[in-house]
Amino acid sequence: MAFSLELTPAHHELLDRAHGFAEDVIRPVAAQYDREAQFPWQVLEQASEAGLYDFLLYRDLISDPTGLSLCLLIEELFWGCAGIGLSIVYPALALSALAQAATPEQLLRWAPECFGEPGNIKLASLAVTEPHGGSDVSSNTTVARREGDSWVIDGTKMFIGNGGVADVHVVNASVDRSVGHYGQAMFIVPKDTSGLRLVRTLDKLGCRASHHAELAFEGCRIPADHLLGTEDELEDKVARGQRKTEAAERARRDGAEKATGEGDDSGGSTTLGAFEQTRPLVAAQAIGVARAAYEYARDYATEREAFGHPIIEHQGTAFPLADVAAAIDSARLLTWRAAWMAANKVSFVQAEGSMSKLVASEVAVQATERAVQTLGGWGYIDDHPVEKWYRDAKVFSIYEGTSEIQRMIIGRAIAEQRGEGPLHLGAGSGGVTNPLARGTKARSRLSKPVVQAGVRTSWLERAARLVPDSFLRGGSR
Ligand SMILES: Cc1cc2nc3c(=O)[nH]c(=O)nc-3n(C[C@H](O)[C@H](O)[C@H](O)COP(=O)(O)OP(=O)(O)OC[C@H]3O[C@@H](n4cnc5c(N)ncnc54)[C@H](O)[C@@H]3O)c2cc1C
Repeated sequence: MAFSLELTPAHHELLDRAHGFAEDVIRPVAAQYDREAQFPWQVLEQASEAGLYDFLLYRDLISDPTGLSLCLLIEELFWGCAGIGLSIVYPALALSALAQAATPEQLLRWAPECFGEPGNIKLASLAVTEPHGGSDVSSNTTVARREGDSWVIDGTKMFIGNGGVADVHVVNASVDRSVGHYGQAMFIVPKDTSGLRLVRTLDKLGCRASHHAELAFEGCRIPADHLLGTEDELEDKVARGQRKTEAAERARRDGAEKATGEGDDSGGSTTLGAFEQTRPLVAAQAIGVARAAYEYARDYATEREAFGHPIIEHQGTAFPLADVAAAIDSARLLTWRAAWMAANKVSFVQAEGSMSKLVASEVAVQATERAVQTLGGWGYIDDHPVEKWYRDAKVFSIYEGTSEIQRMIIGRAIAEQRGEGPLHLGAGSGGVTNPLARGTKARSRLSKPVVQAGVRTSWLERAARLVPDSFLRGGSR
């Protein structure tokens, strides 16, 4: 499907529904939940009743060929409140890990357990990060060992959204630490499993209407079928990791600079992989908060007066807000592009998913800081929501891969682009394939005599129309 900025009627319907929910249900209670650092059970219940907290909604939206539906939904929820937004979308994060790792039968069994239903809502959690460091997941130390008909998990997890209170924990653990991420698998640990312990609930700078915890897994025993995917697949993955490790070892002994061959994933675009696809959704979260802060500051600046004029008439106020407005739109364009690429399975050759997350998260920090500044002293106290948005925004440059990690991923991807042109050409990267497209040599050769002859008709367009459509569209994107 071609990339388009035109929203469909279904997009508009979703947008209106999500915005209405954010405005009528989330915003009125956001400050209170933030102040009290309470989990927003009541809002989740209302979201469930409104069909916005439901795995079936995600099943539908993920199949949108434009890729935009989830971005639209998430931007609106986070425009309402980032903490409440996180509480609403955390099960979807766990669901996305489930969808990547689980067999179809496992997905059917566990997806409804992540959300529950109105009157009986449930929570889900994705537990990957560990206290010693979250950026380098391959060095995780939580282990899973097979004992009879069970897996037994030992380790500690940190910063886990819904951790310890979730009905379903999707947990990353290693069955063979010697092969890094090749030895890692995902496991389902249900609530109340013996050996799963909530060590402490974390007190946070922002997003305080969401729950995060440190978790301990102490001889935590789960049934064998709680390994996501099949044991055969896991064995194959571990064997691939072992071959890769041996090849790297041989290359090191032989003095080669870099091991090559199977499993070499030292940053290649083919391995940017699944995370790239979910990054636009984190970018959409950041854009929601950035937009909230920008809109508030813009409106305030048109009403607040200083030196006899609304402050927006002072360049010092208007120009930074203009920069923020442009930055938010740039971030959204990057985000929608990446979401469209993910939906259309276009390779992220330049780490476009990371680009969207990097830019949107930094824009959120910039926009909220500017909103505080625009309100002056009023921005610094909690009479207005901008100080909350300022605290909330910082998380986007940290979680789901810090800004430094996004730059590292983009850096590796662009290193592979050596010799390529600077323009992103989209699917297949075969270049412009319409021979008469604007800017092609053929078109300028054809148009020269037309211009010289002073012909004022759209002759070239009509000539182009004589060429069969299929020819013009060949390989288009
Ligand atoms: C509010 C919140 C919610 C979260 N939710 C979850 C969740 O639900 N589930 C989950 O599993 N995790 C979650 N996380 C964890 C989050 O993903 C990690 O905090 C993040 O990945 C960074 O890991 P770290 O904090 O251990 O920092 P570290 O990895 O220790 O990094 C510290 C600093 O070093 C920098 N750094 C590291 N490596 C490099 C490098 N190679 N080059 C340059 N700089 C580098 C980092 O960018 C960072 O600035 C959450 C975190 C927060 C704050």
